[in-house]
Amino acid sequence: MAVRREERIRCLGERRRKLAKGIRVPQGLLRGSLAERRIECANPGCGCHSRGGHGPYLYLSQTHEKQRHTCTLMPRELKKEIRTALANYRKLKRDLYRLSDINLELLKLGGLRPSGEKKRR
Ligand SMILES: [Zn+2]
Repeated sequence: MAVRREERIRCLGERRRKLAKGIRVPQGLLRGSLAERRIECANPGCGCHSRGGHGPYLYLSQTHEKQRHTCTLMPRELKKEIRTALANYRKLKRDLYRLSDINLELLKLGGLRPSGEKKRR
């Protein structure tokens, strides 16, 4: 039905407007995930071998282009802030995915332009 289609387009357009308006790009964002690891050292006489290694150390794990992977040692005292920055990144990414999904739906319906411009007559 044409009416339902128009209503759907209007609805998606409204969702898109609200979503785009609410998207913020925080300066404090970080991509990747945190991991904690204990590491046994090379010294055979060190007590770390009996207590599961030194640490735990905090690492930021990231995947880059061509499946390159890095692990970067992070300051433990910043764990909370790092978690917040990681969450900021995930939220922004989620919002962008949603916006893209709405635009795809609008394209399929032949409704609002994905660029956000008004449809010309
Ligand atoms: Zn050790």
